[in-house]
Amino acid sequence: MKIVVQKFGGTSVATPESRRAAYRHIEQAKEDGYAVVVVVSAMGRRGDPYATDSLLSLLESSEASAAPVNLRERDMLMACGEIISAVVFAQELRARGHKVRAMTGAQAGILTSSDFGNARILDVRTDALHKALADGEIAIVAGFQGADEDGDVTTLGRGGSDTTATALGVALHAEVVDIFTDVSGIMTADPRIVDDARQLAQVTYTEICNMAYQGAKVIHPRAVELAMQGNVPIRVRSTMSDDPGTLVTQAARRLEHSSVFDQSVTGIAHTPNVAQIVVRGEGIGSSSIFQLMAEHQISLDFISVTPTEVAFTVPDGLADTAVHHLSQLGYRSQVRRGCAKVSAVGAGMMGVPGVMARIVDALASSGIDILQSADSHTTIWVLVDGSQMADAVRALHRAFQLAEV
Ligand code: ADP
Ligand code: MG
Repeated sequence: MKIVVQKFGGTSVATPESRRAAYRHIEQAKEDGYAVVVVVSAMGRRGDPYATDSLLSLLESSEASAAPVNLRERDMLMACGEIISAVVFAQELRARGHKVRAMTGAQAGILTSSDFGNARILDVRTDALHKALADGEIAIVAGFQGADEDGDVTTLGRGGSDTTATALGVALHAEVVDIFTDVSGIMTADPRIVDDARQLAQVTYTEICNMAYQGAKVIHPRAVELAMQGNVPIRVRSTMSDDPGTLVTQAARRLEHSSVFDQSVTGIAHTPNVAQIVVRGEGIGSSSIFQLMAEHQISLDFISVTPTEVAFTVPDGLADTAVHHLSQLGYRSQVRRGCAKVSAVGAGMMGVPGVMARIVDALASSGIDILQSADSHTTIWVLVDGSQMADAVRALHRAFQLAEV
């Protein structure tokens, strides 16, 4: 039995029109002889009635918000959005004449840790899915969720439906996992920011994983890691078209580039809403700041240390907490909120001279100040003011000629 997993994201399940487009992809896969497992997200985005944020707002009423929210129950609530989508998909596909079975994550055998809100998939018990597929049914699985050993409903955190899809793909030895979304594939930068972003025909797991970790939200990095471990190819493609999209595999060295610089960078990613925190003082570099932050589960990024200065970034939302804990230890810190991290990502960057120089030049000539920078074999990061984020992304996209093949 050849199996395909098809995941449909929030905008793809939101309207009757987008759902019809989704059903055509499902029907095409059936016609091509695949057993089909469908993974669905909750319908729409913030503000839509059954979107995850809308469900969560039910706990924010003045009657509810006086007590801290119970995380176990919050997961029960959050899991509802995807269950609603799964049931609607199942019923509409049934009306089109298909045999279908809707399942919650737990019913589909997704066993997770008990970290409510950010649970890890520990195992996928595929019996129920195999049975449905053997019975000729299309399995419609609610994404973003599972259950722990006690049977408590858990959710998988941001991008969780992507993770559901690749975890099922690996567990079922699927031929491919299709991530259907509202763009036609993985592009050299977010097309909402860069008009002439170019679609990549093929990328490696490592490249897209790096892009995703740096903020390219088109697919979640954890989902890519799972697919990489199981060596299951991913295709990122548009619900609304038949474009083949972007194929993500182990080895996809592109031959389409010409110049050295083009080869060095695959894409530009960005993360908004980060705060830069700088702490100065004699001997600060060997202080216990990092341990302190770790104890409070504040994960730091962009860390730079000198004997007299420590700088790092945290998400804007954690800045106050971080500063509070620092001040309790007697450290005075300087905070700059509303920054953005802009990254040039590319496996071919390693050892190529002049990449950093090119970045500095490009930003300087666009009048953008670099607040901090860091680099690894595959990524160069710069921190800029949030108001200059989009300009910085565009400047780097131009500097590396990413719009051109
Ligand atoms: P879904 O609801 O289908 O999961 P997401 O909003 O999570 O969709 O991801 C799709 C979005 O990712 C696109 O609308 C696009 O704005 C954004 N995006 C960011 N970086 C990239 C990139 N490099 N290539 C394509 N899309 C990107
Ligand atoms: Mg997504």
